[in-house]
Amino acid sequence: MISQDSIEALKAQLDIVDVIGNYIEIKRAGANFKAPCPFHDEKSPSFVISPAKQIYHCFGCGAGGDAIKFTMEYEKLNYPEAIEKLADTYNFTLHYENNRGPKKEKSLLVEKLAKYYIPLLSKTPNALNYLKERGIFESSIECFGIGYAPASHMSIEFLKQQMFTMPEAIELGVVGQGESNIYARFIERITFPIHSPNGTLVGFGGRTISGHQAKYVNSPQSRIFNKSRLLYAYHLAKETIYRKKEMIVTEGYLDVVMLHQAGFTQAVATLGTALTPDHLPLLRKGAPRIIMAYDGDSAGRKAALKAAQLLSASGFDGGVILFEGGLDPADMVKSGQIEVLNRLFLKPLPFIEFVLTQILLNYDLGNPKDKESALNECIAYLKTLSPILQEEYRPYLASILGISPSLVRLTRSSSSPVAPNELVIHDIWELSLVKTIIEHPHFTNQILNYIKPSLLQYHREEFELALAKQLDNPRLMAISVNTQINAFSSSEILKSELITFLGNYYNKELKKVISQNTLKFEKKTFLIRSYRDKIAKLKRGELVSFEG
Ligand code: ZN
Repeated sequence: MISQDSIEALKAQLDIVDVIGNYIEIKRAGANFKAPCPFHDEKSPSFVISPAKQIYHCFGCGAGGDAIKFTMEYEKLNYPEAIEKLADTYNFTLHYENNRGPKKEKSLLVEKLAKYYIPLLSKTPNALNYLKERGIFESSIECFGIGYAPASHMSIEFLKQQMFTMPEAIELGVVGQGESNIYARFIERITFPIHSPNGTLVGFGGRTISGHQAKYVNSPQSRIFNKSRLLYAYHLAKETIYRKKEMIVTEGYLDVVMLHQAGFTQAVATLGTALTPDHLPLLRKGAPRIIMAYDGDSAGRKAALKAAQLLSASGFDGGVILFEGGLDPADMVKSGQIEVLNRLFLKPLPFIEFVLTQILLNYDLGNPKDKESALNECIAYLKTLSPILQEEYRPYLASILGISPSLVRLTRSSSSPVAPNELVIHDIWELSLVKTIIEHPHFTNQILNYIKPSLLQYHREEFELALAKQLDNPRLMAISVNTQINAFSSSEILKSELITFLGNYYNKELKKVISQNTLKFEKKTFLIRSYRDKIAKLKRGELVSFEG
């Protein structure tokens, strides 16, 4: 049993924002943080994290609790397992009351096996020769802990000698269970140890040199090994990633080893999988720009396109480099083209430009019908980006298609349905006013003296929701978390904003009245006089109420 004292000591160290931020994308919203809820399906965020209270709560499905509860729910763990998981993540040593620390034994098994594999490499000439031919130095083999897994029975024998049980080994993914027998997961393969971001050994990647079916295999998915959340060599690259604010993501273990050897110590690799949203929290740490260094063949191109779409829509900065002609970063390091690599990494094709040009490659732009489809696909993609980026890339898209920018219509058409709770930004000023009521409720009376809901042209509904204090309404939450929308933070700013808004409003009304011929003369002159009066007052810096 884990001692209560050490649970309390661990709890005292945990920060709920950090714990949840390891798993999902979260955004600051005033004093809190928000995210789309990981426990139910939703688009606008109703999942709120309070650093002051150290709790989370979802207004949509009611999920809530502290950092340990979150880890239990998200990782599907029981209470002690969640404690061990958190202790492991934060390098915290737990104390056990009856001297049994099951977690420690677990990583110990994988570590012992890794140490067993290492000296076997130098005793296996064809494995060692393969690595040397690829250009890998002795020092890199040592630094990355590269080893060699022998025949199946030898690994199993070793584990038994070390007093590990087979159920343990199976649970940790180093031994597999067949129909009638058990077998080592890695057989006659060069082994690349894979670590969690904090450096705990969690599994292996293995490359065959004796013609086994799959060129590469990885540890299977297990409690300690989740390939869609891990990056190869991240624990070694972490420091450079934070310092240089740059991360190079490749597809191969050898690429990473060779890039590190050439001084690109910010290189990591996905574990034989595509980049997924699960990777994003790790990619965001240290706010690096992300350089995808992928193969130029059609599989690599497709993978890079998906990754670039995901990263650009998630607001990442960076770009893509495709290696053409069967070359990869490892080959380029081996042949000494380090300066060329340096230049490539300095100027990757930015994500959005890459995605747009890749989409166009699929169409025959000489054919007008095809060109229209290409335009529609590009527009659908641009709509996944922030409004500012959409505007920025409108002329770019028009120019690569050779069409007028006016044909790039980015506002939502009635044919693209909007979910009832989704926030569509029509007027940022009106939304700022709504946010002011949400964040500074004491300004509400001041606002209501001069503005009534009907003065708002686009966001009357949100304004009324805010007045009714429906703060858990998803659309208001969406306004709260949207960092483009800023509340008017002081009463002076609010006043001058209201003056500008009302000035525009009454000028517009004045023009309307003047051009209207159906009004009775007396009514018309009255209205004109009253509007001119208001406008004059506003010009002198005085607020006017809408009544009278
Ligand atoms: Zn929820």
